[in-house]
Amino acid sequence: MNNFLRIVAYLKRYSLLVVLSIGANLLSVLFSLVSLTMIIPFLQLLFDKNINAETVIPTLPAFSFSVKYFIDLFNHHFINVIVTYGKIDALLFICFLVAGIFLMKNLFRYGALFFLSPVRNGVVKDIRNELFQKLLSLPLAFYANEKKGDVMARMTSDVQEVEYGIISVLEVTFREPVTILVYLAAMIFMSPQLTIFVLGMLLVTGFIVGRIGKSLKRTSLKSQNKLGELLQIIEESITGLRIIKAFTAEKFQGNKFEQENHAYFKLMTKMQRRKDLSSPLSEFLGISIVVTVLWFGGKLVLDPNNNLPAESFIGFMLIFSQLIPPAKSFSSAYYNIQKGLASSERIYKILDAVNTIQEKPNAIKIEGFKKGIELKNVSFAYNQFDEKQILKNINLTIQKGKMIAIVGQSGSGKSTMANLLPRFYDVQEGQIFIDNIDIRDCTVDSLRKLFGVVSQEAILFNDTIFNNISFGLENVSEEDVIRAAKIANAHDFIVKLEHGYQTIIGDRGNKLSGGEKQRLTIARAVLSDPPILILDEATSSLDTESEKLVQDAIYRLMENRTSVVIAHRLSTIQYADEIVVMQDGNIIERGNHISLMAKNGIYNKLVAMQQF
Ligand code: ADP
Ligand code: MG
Repeated sequence: MNNFLRIVAYLKRYSLLVVLSIGANLLSVLFSLVSLTMIIPFLQLLFDKNINAETVIPTLPAFSFSVKYFIDLFNHHFINVIVTYGKIDALLFICFLVAGIFLMKNLFRYGALFFLSPVRNGVVKDIRNELFQKLLSLPLAFYANEKKGDVMARMTSDVQEVEYGIISVLEVTFREPVTILVYLAAMIFMSPQLTIFVLGMLLVTGFIVGRIGKSLKRTSLKSQNKLGELLQIIEESITGLRIIKAFTAEKFQGNKFEQENHAYFKLMTKMQRRKDLSSPLSEFLGISIVVTVLWFGGKLVLDPNNNLPAESFIGFMLIFSQLIPPAKSFSSAYYNIQKGLASSERIYKILDAVNTIQEKPNAIKIEGFKKGIELKNVSFAYNQFDEKQILKNINLTIQKGKMIAIVGQSGSGKSTMANLLPRFYDVQEGQIFIDNIDIRDCTVDSLRKLFGVVSQEAILFNDTIFNNISFGLENVSEEDVIRAAKIANAHDFIVKLEHGYQTIIGDRGNKLSGGEKQRLTIARAVLSDPPILILDEATSSLDTESEKLVQDAIYRLMENRTSVVIAHRLSTIQYADEIVVMQDGNIIERGNHISLMAKNGIYNKLVAMQQF
């Protein structure tokens, strides 16, 4: 219920449009009611009720806002036409009237939809925007437990389900009740006895329909989850296509997809069948009611003591038949709402996810980097419920302008330590200071602006080279981008490309070589000009030749900056001011190259290993 109200709350921004739409609907229902009642005078004509040239024309009634006034008004004109022009022309009169009324009805019906479409699409837009903003703001840790494909399913198909749900809410809360009330009022006016009969039967129908829909929501939740898994496989297969082909795993991956797809198929079939049951069932129930009413009403017409004329009874039945579609749409709306609710649960799971990287209300905005970074007794685990600590009681000072190198075996916690500095994760114990301020007391933006990160994997977007280099910055001049590219050893290869800086580099830059990609990310770092650099094995995936070009670019990038270099090739860090050797989350040695070599410890062994 809570979720339901939250969805409805999205409508608030569009209340004027909603009101207009409801108003137009109301008018359309009224016109359609009036058009139906036209059958009564029509039948009167055909059955030759005693109206003829001698009939006295009723006087034009005085205006009042009542049904009686409109009936009298109609009778005045109707009898006037019969008396003056004859019955054939009166028939024509009614036919034109009906056509005119239907025109009005449909104009208003269109109006209702016209005002409704910005509402339904607007709500979808709002939810999607909100979701995307939230996705950007959530910390990296959130995505460790999420599937990319599933997140995408929530942003697309689940939002769509919510849209259908919302439209159904609008229909069942505004349009259908109005329709039903208007028709019911007309029916009561014509025959209260019959109407009570009808009402009782409608209640029974509603009860039965409600019972079937119980499990629909659960099935829908399951099927949306399944869809997420499907998208996940598609996403992974496309990004990993090279590996799939190399390992000739097409069949394996294909089978995996087929299995999931089949499970989805079964769930969807089950759900659809349940949903489809509503229509035949309610139609049969509807017809049962109609038959009963025909029997009951027919008796009233035949009864000489009862003054229900045959043509009024037919009019009544016509109006009553109009009551069945809205009653039916009640039941399908009920199902749509259930499905929308299931999807909204999945959406709210993201919207309500707590951002663990919180900014304090009086957070300090740091301007510039003055003294240094200090890690004090820092301990960290990715999962706080996990016993396994990745970093154990780390103490480290990085002074401004110095180059600190971190070395150690794979898995020893080097990248983890680097990730703590821009607060991608929060430490569990100890503190990290930047210019003597705890980084949790700073605004996240101002903290992260101090850092430039170049990592092993070059993260690029499917866009032009220019936009990749100037990523995240506004109003960047072409000269600046070229200057950065030159420092990064990238200019030469860029100008050789067909469109130069305007070349689009493909998904993740797959039209470029590894070394070229890396030099673009270095150019990006040069351009954003951060005081502190984090280089996480920036050259380790490159061949020797491009490594030299990239390493060259990195040395230039490091000039006049503070840098934390995680190095795979130890030759590149010989001149570091301090080398920190890590093992199992501990710092086990530290010093410069010469002192560490003299120590003849782990560092010495690592260097010796690489000399082969
Ligand atoms: P290094 O960079 O020294 O090779 P990492 O800092 O990447 O090592 O990883 C240290 C340990 O933390 C590894 O045992 C790894 O399994 C674990 N680890 C790394 N990233 C995550 C993560 N996002 N979630 C959970 N565990 C992680
Ligand atoms: Mg690493």
